[in-house]
Amino acid sequence: MRLRRLAVVAGAMALLVGTPVVAHAAPGQSDNLARSATATASYTSPWESVAAVNDGIDPSTSNDTVNRRWGTWPNTGEQWVLLTWSGAQTLRSADVYFFDDNGGVRVPASWRLQYWTGSAYADVPGASGYPAAANQYNAVNFTQVSTSRLRVVLQSGAASVGLLEVRAYASAIGTGNPGNPSGWNPPASLVQPLSEVWTHQEQTYNNLYGFRNYAWDQIFANGGTGINYCVRWDSSASVSAALRDRIQATLQRQFKKWIDVMAGHNGWPYQQVPVKVVGWAVRDRAQLQWTDSSVDIYVNNIRENAPQCGEPCGRFFNQSGNYPNCPGGASHHYDMSLWLTSGFGGGAGGDWGQRIGSEYYVGALDADNVHILLHEMGHSFGLDDFYDWTPTGQCCFLMKAGSATQITDFDAWMLRDWWRHLKNRWGY
Ligand SMILES: [Zn+2]
Repeated sequence: MRLRRLAVVAGAMALLVGTPVVAHAAPGQSDNLARSATATASYTSPWESVAAVNDGIDPSTSNDTVNRRWGTWPNTGEQWVLLTWSGAQTLRSADVYFFDDNGGVRVPASWRLQYWTGSAYADVPGASGYPAAANQYNAVNFTQVSTSRLRVVLQSGAASVGLLEVRAYASAIGTGNPGNPSGWNPPASLVQPLSEVWTHQEQTYNNLYGFRNYAWDQIFANGGTGINYCVRWDSSASVSAALRDRIQATLQRQFKKWIDVMAGHNGWPYQQVPVKVVGWAVRDRAQLQWTDSSVDIYVNNIRENAPQCGEPCGRFFNQSGNYPNCPGGASHHYDMSLWLTSGFGGGAGGDWGQRIGSEYYVGALDADNVHILLHEMGHSFGLDDFYDWTPTGQCCFLMKAGSATQITDFDAWMLRDWWRHLKNRWGY
């Protein structure tokens, strides 16, 4: 479906048929050398594990209650984790994911990386900076060193400190610098078709550069903490707590496929953009078979002949990013809607979210690629449809409805082209 910039969606729905399989573009991230190191620490709480920091598990939030963690509670002050290799490694960058449980363990007041010179620990030279954000990797590039030990030194702030994961690389994490291998470097065969696509979008979009509610804008408005969704359950079927959770998990998994295209690319700052369903809209509360208060519930607020989540909490209706009339406050806001309509055969997508069939979505919960949803998410990032033309040399890709069922190399580079053209909006 064509990108819709209005909450009211009507018009013809594309039926997706005929689905050749196309190779998926792998995100470009170099090998994580931390995996082969041994981790030790200044102190580890008896119930935590320092081995967590290089076990290769990417956390989904800083308050990870599922996987093992490294934490120093109740100890504060300067704390460190040390990675030791059996031989010298060439190191050029690292990123860390902080443990923060909103209680006794919080992100540090400051931190730095040190390496073993052979006789002492020294700060890594030329560090690009030490961000300390929760719920994401914090990347640092530095002048190349050769060493057998890398130390992450944390200075506690409001509480004790901890880490969920540390990764170290021989090459730089994408910084957007010209010539950087993780910068703008599409395969030669894609340069012309990508240029055609961008020119076409500039000529056919109303306000391509002025529009400020792409999914990109939403991600930055939240400071990289993630994207909140509200589900518009446009169906008379009941929903169990288990189904609710699976609907969220599938949404997270699909959104991640687009974000994985960006991770480490051309200065894009987020390795992950967590997705959380914060609300559900239904006609009748009795359809929702749970009593916990984990999500906000909106009952019988009918718009476009379908249940709608509260407008005061919706990004579409509050594009300043302020939610003064949202009952739960800004943390209860939703950026997009996942609008699931019974008997609906196609899809629609835009800055307001995505609309697809409820039966299709529930039937695809275990699918690797929920391809109609992926296509409509592409529209939320600004990607166009290709009903009436095909870029030079291309045949099959997700945004050309009906020609692919997953994100192809060409889709990936179209997404990256949006970032290339918009990123100075956010200072990159
Ligand atoms: Zn479309």
